[in-house]
Amino acid sequence: MQTYLNYIDNRWVKSQSSETIESVNPATGEIVCAAQASAVDDARAAVDSAKQSFEKGEWSEDANRRSKALYRLGQLLSESVAPMTDLLLRESGKTLEDANAEITRSSFPLEYYSGVTRNVFGRSILLGPKNMSLLLREPLGVVSIIVPWNAPIALLVRSLAPALAAGNTVVIKPASATPGITAEFLKLVEKVPEFPPGTVNMVTGSGQTVGRELVQNRSVGMISFTGDTSTGKEIMRLAADGLKRLSLELGGKSPNIIYPDADFAKAVRGVISGSCFSYAGQICYAGTRVLIHREIHDKFLGVVHQQVKNMRVGYGLEKDVTVGPVINRKQLDRVMNYIEIGRKEAKLVTGGRRMIEGSLAKGNFIEPTVFDEVTPSSRLAQEEIFGPVLSVLSFEDMNDAIKLANNTVYGLAAAIWTNDLSTALNTARKVKAGTVWVNTFGKLNASTEAGGMKQSGFGRLYGLEGLRDFTELKNVNIETS
Ligand code: NDP
Repeated sequence: MQTYLNYIDNRWVKSQSSETIESVNPATGEIVCAAQASAVDDARAAVDSAKQSFEKGEWSEDANRRSKALYRLGQLLSESVAPMTDLLLRESGKTLEDANAEITRSSFPLEYYSGVTRNVFGRSILLGPKNMSLLLREPLGVVSIIVPWNAPIALLVRSLAPALAAGNTVVIKPASATPGITAEFLKLVEKVPEFPPGTVNMVTGSGQTVGRELVQNRSVGMISFTGDTSTGKEIMRLAADGLKRLSLELGGKSPNIIYPDADFAKAVRGVISGSCFSYAGQICYAGTRVLIHREIHDKFLGVVHQQVKNMRVGYGLEKDVTVGPVINRKQLDRVMNYIEIGRKEAKLVTGGRRMIEGSLAKGNFIEPTVFDEVTPSSRLAQEEIFGPVLSVLSFEDMNDAIKLANNTVYGLAAAIWTNDLSTALNTARKVKAGTVWVNTFGKLNASTEAGGMKQSGFGRLYGLEGLRDFTELKNVNIETS
């Protein structure tokens, strides 16, 4: 079994703790690999290395070099799709299709920001006859990137590419469930000669040890965090003392709003394949709430029942499997607990069992589950479950739909299904969500900003605003003689 080391200052180094963590295949229970259970001092060493690299200026002051490095990294990732997919599948429990899609698409932000690197413009203004001001857009310094397990490469690259493009240096902390795939990604970083030592560092280990230090360390200028809302709040509290800049991409409870005039088959496809059940519902923007117009409620439920019942659950490498396991036993228990709550609060349409037939018993498999007659204030409608559980709620008209859509603390994403342009735009404008899809679901693109409203977080990733979030402005006021 492979034991991965930390990557600090372009060298692979052991932790000072001499302890390790293990990642486990959620489908089979087999140990996939081990990594360093790092100590606070390892995190400090990585931050020091990133700080020194930043201050040398070889990276932060050379946009050409940054452009080349990001492009080359994107190319190397594209050439490594097969082995990276295999490891991601084993470590995360994704299906072959989902794992392949994650690795394949993760090169896009690297390529996009490779182009943007040379366009980080400031502004200038003539304030008077002998007075001008230069508004410089500068990198922040060291950025800590704290990553969850549910899309360990896609969610890493989404923060990494703009942070690096802006000229920052970084320390990455992967989730403890997925250190191996992240270390393999760092091996690609190692192959890019344009990255000066210390520009990209990685320290594995627990959030409570390594994560906390990466938030609180005085030399860290910004934290880019993706994960649970409660962790995001904790990070905000920890960062308050140093007044650190934050980008928080947190939980969601995204609604799929289906109007009676929608392309029915397309909307059903969007609900089933595009949102709640892929990767067993462990996606922050998953469309876990269906808001369906009363007129088409019964028809919708009949079709969804049939399709969900026939979904194949199993190990992602097996043919026709569309729903894999949840990440670990803790998550399994958490989701099963929500299903028990749902049995009391709502009407179970299909699913609801842990699957333990044959080899499934070794993994964390749950039947794709649908609840109907979910009341708006119930826990099922309000809380992020992060499992293959869909809640169906009915509405009467547009106002009712919008009210229901906005009736949670979250505001990450929403989808609207209708063939009426006015209905689509009026709903899109009123829904509080960072991303709104119309007649599609889950499309994210490196060129366009993504992020949350309300308790789904703040800050934007992707697009030009995504890059600007990793910079700060300096006003240089000049008096000429
Ligand atoms: P967390 O939010 O706890 O973890 C995300 C990352 O933050 C991990 O790298 C974790 O490290 C790290 N971390 C944890 N605590 C701290 C801290 N105090 N300071 C700094 N870093 C920290 O998510 P979990 O993986 O524990 O999952 C828990 C729940 O969160 C899930 O059941 C799910 O509901 C939700 N979730 C939501 C995600 C989203 O994208 N919206 C993504 C992942 C989870 P470590 O892994 O070592 O704990």
